[in-house]
Amino acid sequence: NLTDKLERSFKILKGEGRITEINVAETLKEIRRALIDADVNYKVAKTFTDEVKQKALGQDVLKAVKPGQMMTKIVRDSLAELMGGTASDIRLDGTPAVVLIAGLQGSGKTTFSGKLASFIKSRKGRQVLLVAGDIYRPAAIDQLKVLGSQIGVEVYTEEGNRNPVEIAENAIRYARQKAFNVVIVDTAGRLAVDEAMMQEITAIKAAVKPSETLFVVDAMTGQDAVNTAREFNDRLDFDGVVLTKLDGDTRGGAAISIRSVVDKPLKFISNGEKMDALQVFHPERMADRILGMGDVVSLVERAQEQFDEEEARRLKKKLVKNQFNFNDFIAQIQQIKKMGNLKDLASMIPGMGKMLKNVDIPDDVFKQTEAIISSMTPAEREHPEIINARRRERIAKGSGTTMADVNRLMKQFEDTRKMMKAVAGGNMKMPRIPGRR
Ligand code: GDP
Ligand code: MG
Repeated sequence: NLTDKLERSFKILKGEGRITEINVAETLKEIRRALIDADVNYKVAKTFTDEVKQKALGQDVLKAVKPGQMMTKIVRDSLAELMGGTASDIRLDGTPAVVLIAGLQGSGKTTFSGKLASFIKSRKGRQVLLVAGDIYRPAAIDQLKVLGSQIGVEVYTEEGNRNPVEIAENAIRYARQKAFNVVIVDTAGRLAVDEAMMQEITAIKAAVKPSETLFVVDAMTGQDAVNTAREFNDRLDFDGVVLTKLDGDTRGGAAISIRSVVDKPLKFISNGEKMDALQVFHPERMADRILGMGDVVSLVERAQEQFDEEEARRLKKKLVKNQFNFNDFIAQIQQIKKMGNLKDLASMIPGMGKMLKNVDIPDDVFKQTEAIISSMTPAEREHPEIINARRRERIAKGSGTTMADVNRLMKQFEDTRKMMKAVAGGNMKMPRIPGRR
């Protein structure tokens, strides 16, 4: 994995007093190898390391930082630059603004269409219409309908029509009539790039004149992703790239190669099957992720966004007074669930990604806990100290669990209470964010 390899190559520099021609050469060789192993095109990796070398040798080593840290910063900044420097927003011009989704079958177009609709609806407050343009796979229309109903977005379909260009045009007309201001057109893909698919997608593009054409590509396909991106770009001249399936093992390599081969910005990354598993692509954060610093900034932002500050203050007060009870406990679980997939969250913490690689955190990890708490009476939830053995037995029966399960939860609750009291009593400071200036 790229992160491990880069970590190792930085170790070579550790303890060295200065960045010299010799230790830079060693390190850069390792970095180049690591990049190539992560599916970065050879030429891209070579150009990249050559540039890093020029920057590194030209720098006076600051007294305060170790050469390894300095190299990390140079590599990080250069990586970010290679991936576009700054985040680029999605352009939504026109009435309605049309977003066209293209890519191979199975790349994640339909899933992403749903996520993007939800994102635009909630973050930008626009009226979004989804269009089912994949008429070849019988289940494709239903799939989009299911997603649409999950996120509360209308899906435009024409079950009998076999002409996707016509469907897209009709959908836009419909959107105008019904005052939708963003139309997302999901399209069909094939297993490999072929002429029929390219003709269809270019015809749709010519007909609907999208404000944004996004190319969706599965990050797990490695070097193939780069070739597919090139072929689509040659025909379609798309505006941005969406990298999907970046959950699990991080494959930053594709992001780097695609950007340098097609010279189009990466706009979103998709990291899960759930509708909220979508992130705006930030080159600097991706660079951090590749370098193993973890995407701490995203994590903090996401946590802040979801966590009601008022609620946090109220909790803190209760914790200090040792009044934290099961109602607060369940509220906390709700907060955590709102923040999305636990594994995604944990993998953003530096060092955790590696640890969690082979660990399975089920999505319903809280199910039993919630069942037990709902079997408590209001008084028990409010005053956990009254829960004696007889009550525990009743709670176990009511929640379909065992005494041992209830006891375990009570113990967990006590531990949480103690730990949180200690944290709240001290100074609740934001953790320092590595790699941020
Ligand atoms: P399409 O053929 O391009 O429309 O692809 P779909 O959206 O139907 O996705 C193909 C499969 O990949 C489905 O099983 C999705 O649930 C899954 N999928 C899509 N995006 C992601 C992602 O970001 N992470 C993971 N793990 N699975 C994804
Ligand atoms: Mg699809």
